[in-house]
Amino acid sequence: MGVINVLDKHVAELIAAGEVVERPASVIKELVENSIDAGAKHITVEIKNGGTTFMRVADDGCGIFRDDIKVAFLRHATSKVKVESDLDSISTLGFRGEALASICAVSRLQLITRNVNEEIGTSYEIDGGEEQSFDDAGCPVGTTFVIRDLFYNIPARAKFLKKDVSEGNAVSNIIDKTALSHPEIAFTYIKDGKQVLRTFGDGKLISTIYSVFGKDFANGLIPVEYQLGAIRVCGYISKPEHSRPNRNMQNFFINGRYIKTRTAMVALEEAFKGSIMVGKFPSCVLNIELPCEIIDVNVHPSKLEVRFINERPVFDAIYHAVKSSLMKYDSRKKASFKK
Ligand code: ADP
Ligand code: MG
Repeated sequence: MGVINVLDKHVAELIAAGEVVERPASVIKELVENSIDAGAKHITVEIKNGGTTFMRVADDGCGIFRDDIKVAFLRHATSKVKVESDLDSISTLGFRGEALASICAVSRLQLITRNVNEEIGTSYEIDGGEEQSFDDAGCPVGTTFVIRDLFYNIPARAKFLKKDVSEGNAVSNIIDKTALSHPEIAFTYIKDGKQVLRTFGDGKLISTIYSVFGKDFANGLIPVEYQLGAIRVCGYISKPEHSRPNRNMQNFFINGRYIKTRTAMVALEEAFKGSIMVGKFPSCVLNIELPCEIIDVNVHPSKLEVRFINERPVFDAIYHAVKSSLMKYDSRKKASFKK
């Protein structure tokens, strides 16, 4: 007698959900990315107890059509990809159609939404993947998700959550990076009843940096604006005299998405060689804009990684962008000494 059986749908769903939803921060990341894809101008995020018991993400984006609501929660249901060739030029943050299916399988979820083209909104509730209610709701255009009791139905998973403080910090980190990559969106972030971040959505990166990292950091920066072929690098690097003992403040974004990339880190530090002491590190908030064709974002569900089809031009663009800004800064400093 054989020992292999196909998992039942419910168990398979929980396993799949676990890959997308690791902790409160991953829920917040997915929901906020959906709000951005929906064209939101204002996004409010609220969490309690590190997000473990309560998370709310409210946006003023396009909203979801009533007829689409139940479909949106199915695995591989997305409005962002239709045919295979769309995968070659993804411009939205989401595209896998997995987030809502995963989140609703492992929490108590409420969705309140109204599409711009509809008169009346809808409230939809799902607990652990089971529909609880579907009702009319009076609400403005946009979408609000409320997620309660993450992993209430998978205690083994809940046990792996860290202390509320750590989970809350991970959420804050996501909000900071997301706000930085979207200066045109006004973010409000409320933690345990207290507003801890507000960005203004005026489209200026420096004012978002000011809100997120504070005045001292913002004042120690040099602007970067550079184009090499099809690659554009813009944002800010730290003045050499504001370098730090670690790399914690190196922030890279590719086409508006926060990523970790060794290529960019090495290019940045190479360009700073000779300007700062060994053992000190530059900081930056740099956005690299490049044609979708030269990156592959289809790497990992959390999508923190991207793969460059060809690394060299990306390295060169960042290196020269940083180097030329440093040289400009240096010559300005020398000129002001001479005066
Ligand atoms: P994906 O983002 O990969 O498409 P999701 O599971 O995150 O998959 O979302 C499924 C679909 O639900 C999206 O494609 C989108 O059409 C819709 N949706 C989700 N969140 C929002 C939102 N905040 N505003 C408007 N539509 C949304
Ligand atoms: Mg999504």
